[in-house]
Amino acid sequence: MALEDYGASFVMCPSCSRRTTQANWRANWQVCPTCGAHQALSAPERLLSVLDAGSFVELGEHIDGRDPLGFPGYPQKLEDLRKKTGLEEAVITGVGAIDGVRVVIGVMDSRFMMASMGMAVGERLAVAVEYAKNGGLPLILFCASGGARMQEGIISLMQMAKTSAAIADFSAAGGLYISVLTHPTTGGVMASFASQGDITLAEPGALLGFAGPRVIEQTIGQRLPEGFQRSEFQQEHGFVDQIVPRGSMRETLAKLLRLHGYGVMRG
Ligand SMILES: [Zn+2]
Repeated sequence: MALEDYGASFVMCPSCSRRTTQANWRANWQVCPTCGAHQALSAPERLLSVLDAGSFVELGEHIDGRDPLGFPGYPQKLEDLRKKTGLEEAVITGVGAIDGVRVVIGVMDSRFMMASMGMAVGERLAVAVEYAKNGGLPLILFCASGGARMQEGIISLMQMAKTSAAIADFSAAGGLYISVLTHPTTGGVMASFASQGDITLAEPGALLGFAGPRVIEQTIGQRLPEGFQRSEFQQEHGFVDQIVPRGSMRETLAKLLRLHGYGVMRG
């Protein structure tokens, strides 16, 4: 062990059980240096990992979550999560640059109520998509979600229609949308904007599907095949175009943007 690692705080990889310093995990964007398992990355770290330094300007930060149904304990839960994570809601949206190409970007953060889609999440995304459409900018969304936000009931489900319609509108105007699926992307988010990408990328080993494997097994009374709904399975079945490890994400996005003419003639 390197001397500077003595006294450092260690994190054990849940996949291979090897211990690595906290600093090492951070430097590697939460990918295990030993086995390559991808652990959750916060939205701010994700933005740092793909955007040009200092290029990010947030959009829609004033759109915060409410308690439309008077759900018991919900306002307190939101308040506690805001204090704990420093986030106002489960998604951060804004404008930034990737290798000099301007993009509209949205990143969901699973620390905030499993990145469930309440009205603030839906509205922030819709505003970002509209901004991309009006500005002729490409759109990149890093998806992660447990699904709908049950504390907002039907208003949560309405966000599926709202985000889908916004993206359909953006696509009709000729915009490029790259959807990046990270662990886990499920439920109403998978059933709406996450699966509407012109190009769908995924991180290795992510769980991607509508209902989770346990629910499906209980419903059909059968064992599911090995690796069911993981990125690799979804790529094999045509749902994912390419699996991109976190360390190559920025470079891959830059290449895709330039291939589509952004930053060359149009950017
Ligand atoms: Zn590991």
